[in-house]
Order: sequence, then structure tokens, then C-alpha cells
Amino acid sequence: MRILAITNQKGGVGKTTTCVNLAASLAATKRRVLLIDLDPQGNATTGSGIEKTSLKHTVYHVLIGQKTFKEVIQTSEKGKFDVAPANRELAGAEVELVNEIARETRLKQALAELVKADPSGKPYDYILIDCPPALNLITVNALTAADAVMIPMQCEYYALEGLSDLVNTIKKVRAHLNPTLEIEGLLRTLFDNRNMLAQQVSVELSQHFGDKVYRTVIPRNIRLAEAPSYGVPVLFYDKSSKGAKAYLALAGEIINRKVGKVRAVNGEA
Ligand code: ADP
Ligand code: MG
Repeated sequence: MRILAITNQKGGVGKTTTCVNLAASLAATKRRVLLIDLDPQGNATTGSGIEKTSLKHTVYHVLIGQKTFKEVIQTSEKGKFDVAPANRELAGAEVELVNEIARETRLKQALAELVKADPSGKPYDYILIDCPPALNLITVNALTAADAVMIPMQCEYYALEGLSDLVNTIKKVRAHLNPTLEIEGLLRTLFDNRNMLAQQVSVELSQHFGDKVYRTVIPRNIRLAEAPSYGVPVLFYDKSSKGAKAYLALAGEIINRKVGKVRAVNGEA
């Protein structure tokens, strides 16, 4: 089981789009996937085909300790993955948790219980966490629960500037809460090949972060922007679109990276 937090404190960089479409792409390769929506906007919930306003229990109730994951998880019928949904109520968790004990480890604990409750001990191959556009307590909960962070970013002038704040937060979480947290990778999103600046920033990113930059690039593709209004991942809206193909390729890259790592540990590669 691998837990990935999809994080960037900037809004509009493709976190939610990545979360929903990567979940569907991993599920299409028969991986068992849980998407946890940690953004009060609930866009990942809606984008997975779950009506967010009618929900009785959400991830908010899990964080404040009123419900277990088992009690809030739903299935994205089309996407074939599970979803721990969120809606506006989640915004309250930030305030309500401030004076609570172990406020940063709520998500981690709830996930540990979920794994324990499953007789096989391994209910999911991948857990993807969609973070809000802020480095707040909710995001810290995600970073504390995660094995690794995926950072979607747009290749534009200010992209690298925001990255240092995020990297500093990751370092702090590593020092105090989650010593084994890794940066799994940087994902270039909303990429426009004809844009010279984007190309330049993309090259800089690769020079600076090397292997940490996913080879897969997510192009700007209108189908990716349209699919959420039908409540489906792009695979079920236009599977031959560039966007659908890119997210399938990303799923393949993530699966292969993991295999590569296991081989390296065993001294095979
Ligand atoms: P975030 O979660 O980081 O705020 P979103 O995934 O919600 O970002 O994306 C912001 C907006 O851009 C949404 O309207 C989304 O549909 C659109 N979008 C995201 N990725 C792409 C893409 N690769 N091509 C076209 N539109 C995209
Ligand atoms: Mg989002």
C-alpha cells in the first residue's frame, strides 16, 4: 500500500484533476484505489460522480473522530475506485482541531484503523489524498499520513518560488511528524508545448530536480476540464483524448517506479 499526498499550496495547478484521473487510471490497471478528498471545495468528490451536498458523513467526521473511514467511504461507480468524500463542512475541522491532542495525526490514525479493520490487512494498493490549496493543518495531516508527496505544477515563472515554501513544510513534517516522508515526484501539468516560457521552466525543473520530475507531462487538454461537469474521470468521457492518455501513462510510470525501487533494494538493478 502506498499513500500519496497530492499537494501544492497554489490553487488551479491540477491537483484535483490529477487525483481523480490518476485514481481512475490506476483502477483501470486493476489496482485498488482510495481517493481521500481533503479539500472543503469537494471537487474531487464531485469529479468522481458523488453528489457532495447530500452527504451525511464525510472525511470531516473522520478527522474530528466521530466516524471511521469505513463509515464514510463510497464507491465511484464509473471510476471503479473508492472515495472518502468531502464538502464545505471540512473547513470547520481546521478550527475545531486547533486545541485537540494529536491534531496533526488524525488522518494517519484513522487510516491505520482502516487497514487494521480489513482482514487481509491491505485494503488498497494506492491511497491518493487531494489536498486543499494551503499549507494548513489539513495539509499537514495529509503529509503526516503519507508515504510520499506528489507535487503538480504549472511551468510558469512563479512556480519555483512557491515550491520552496512547500519543501520547507515537508522538511518540518519530516523532522517532527513523519521522518520517512519522501518527495515522490514533480508533475508538470497544464503543459502547453508552444509556450517558450513553459519549455524553459520545464528544463530548469529537470536540471534542478532530476529524477524527481515525472517523465510523463500532462498537456493542457479541454477534455480534462470538461469531464468533471459529467461527474466522471476523463477515461469515461473521452478515452482517446490526450488528457486520458497522459494520466494512463502517469499511472504506468508510478507503478514502474515502485517496481524499480523494489528491484534496487533487492540489488537487482
Ligand atoms: P487544483 O486542484 O490544483 O486547484 P484543478 O485540478 O481543480 O486544480 O484544476 C484547475 C482548473 O483547471 C479546473 O477547472 C480544471 O478542470 C482545469 N484543468 C486542470 N488540469 C487541466 C489540463 N491538463 N488541461 C485543461 N484543463 C485543466
Ligand atoms: Mg483542487
